[in-house]
Amino acid sequence: MAETDLAPASEALETLRRVFGYDSFRGDQAAIVEHVIAGGDALVLMPTGGGKSLCYQIPALVRPGVGVVVSPLIALMQDQVDALRNAGVRAGFLNSTQDYAARQEVETAFLNGELDLLYLAPERLSVESTVRLLDRGKISLFAIDEAHCVAQWGHDFRPDYLQLSALHERWPDVPRIALTATATEATHKEITARLRLDEARHFVASFDRPNIQYRIVGKNSPQRQLLELLRTEHAGDAGIVYCLSRNSVEKTAEFLVQNGIPAVPYHAGLDARTRAKHQARFLREDGLIVVATIAFGMGIDKPDVRFVAHLDLPKSVEGYYQETGRAGRDGLPSTAWLAYGLQDVVQQRKMIDTSEGDEAHRRRLGTHLNAMLALCETVECRRVQILNYFGQQAGPCGNCDTCLNPPEKWDGTIPAQKLLSTVVRLRNERRQKFGAGQIIDILLGKSTPKVTQFQHDTLKTFGIGTELREPEWRAVVRQLLAQGLLAVEGDYGSLVLTETSSEVLGGDRQVLLRREPERAAAAKVRSTRKAAAAVDMPAEAAPLFERLRAWRAGVAKEQGVPAYVVFHDATLRQIATQRPSSLADLGTVSGVGENKLAKYGEGLLEILTAE
Ligand code: ADP
Ligand code: ZN
Repeated sequence: MAETDLAPASEALETLRRVFGYDSFRGDQAAIVEHVIAGGDALVLMPTGGGKSLCYQIPALVRPGVGVVVSPLIALMQDQVDALRNAGVRAGFLNSTQDYAARQEVETAFLNGELDLLYLAPERLSVESTVRLLDRGKISLFAIDEAHCVAQWGHDFRPDYLQLSALHERWPDVPRIALTATATEATHKEITARLRLDEARHFVASFDRPNIQYRIVGKNSPQRQLLELLRTEHAGDAGIVYCLSRNSVEKTAEFLVQNGIPAVPYHAGLDARTRAKHQARFLREDGLIVVATIAFGMGIDKPDVRFVAHLDLPKSVEGYYQETGRAGRDGLPSTAWLAYGLQDVVQQRKMIDTSEGDEAHRRRLGTHLNAMLALCETVECRRVQILNYFGQQAGPCGNCDTCLNPPEKWDGTIPAQKLLSTVVRLRNERRQKFGAGQIIDILLGKSTPKVTQFQHDTLKTFGIGTELREPEWRAVVRQLLAQGLLAVEGDYGSLVLTETSSEVLGGDRQVLLRREPERAAAAKVRSTRKAAAAVDMPAEAAPLFERLRAWRAGVAKEQGVPAYVVFHDATLRQIATQRPSSLADLGTVSGVGENKLAKYGEGLLEILTAE
């Protein structure tokens, strides 16, 4: 290297400022970038929105050669490449959506050293011609994005990821950086083993996303509850609504549209073209809602998703955290909202019982579900619980429902005993089993046709539970299930005892339960959120911000890219607040790099001086 060359660290920082227009690295970014520039392997665990992309983009720009990025997200490659090109980075991709000519063009650019970054679908690497192509060019690094796809029991497993372990053998001198937002100990270990990253340096960031407000509510009329959330707190916002089944995805999207809220469905049952169209609309339009199964969302890097709502219980805390993490990548206040009820527990247990795979697999699914239930029923800070799940410590956050409206704990030992002893009595009876509805009817002393048919009104526990109302009994059942003091079985969600039920029946174990805060509490949550959002930009800057947004929409449309590829909301907010009056001033705004300044600077100044 010539003497005049910058040291790697400052060259990285210079690249960050010049190309991306950001002042400084965040968190571990600087250390990761330095390590990879120096040729080291890295495994990066960082939450969604943490800033993983720069961890390989900057080294790819600093090191000689082309950075090869392996990503399963074919549908998003075009947008990723557009965003990079807009910042002046020479990027391209190779995947099955291209025609021959387009592929040729990228391959030629790669061989001529005219690319900084090349995105590849993992299956490309099992094609011998691709491997030969890579052999003929110069590779600066391999980035393995969404590295948790290599985890075989994970929710995003991709068989093609398994062969990525071969990269190291084939190109031993090229540094590899694997990145994921999934961070449980088990997944971490599996990625390390399968990608042979034992020698790599591991960077584990804090998984906290402080700008996301976590809330979990009891489910009674989910669509109505969702509508109220959208109307009162998220009018005009972009967001994602997750449902378990395709059918409920369709119905919920329809329901929102009928109520005047723009929404589109997304699930694996729709044909590929419709899915691509809906995804593109979500990325490009302001304020559209996607109602989806978990098939939607991986790699969606839209920065201004303001809420993620779940209408059904997620299968694991891992999946839940990844889905909710799609909210608020831009760091602005956002909501993660989940509605869950007894029926969810029954349904998920049934799905586990009937799932394919061996006993160990079912047990694993059960453990995941239990952790999710514990999160739903906790009386402690949601964030503390989530971070603990990922092996990280934290104090109460002040920005989740349990911190804002602490639920009461109450001693539910006696109701639990009444309920469990009803289950015992029913078990003794002609091997018939009954679900929660029947048991609650018995406790409340209701002589329904089904109660009289089975003569359950003659049971000793008939009518002994009138101190609680029906929804409260359902909450008791739910929490006993969550605590493993009760279990469900069979097609009809029959309640059965567990090994630990007898401890409660025998009076050896106290049962602490959570009482749902009443509805008035929701107002408190809202006012906090509004206040948080207001500090972000002074009110007098709002009209200018709106004009800048309108300008951005025009530019984005003309170029056929999502609006955020031009500038993020956060950048426009800063411009509206500071009102820079020269190109030099404009260049100091976070998110305005060299290329964007040259491209959009004059246009922006016109709007600013037309004031
Ligand atoms: P991830 O891939 O980890 O979900 P991204 O790489 O998409 O996160 O980054 C999230 C957001 O944070 C993006 O909008 C990105 O431009 C921004 N960002 C990342 N690093 C920085 C930084 N050092 N300074 C300012 N903004 C950053
Ligand atoms: Zn909290």
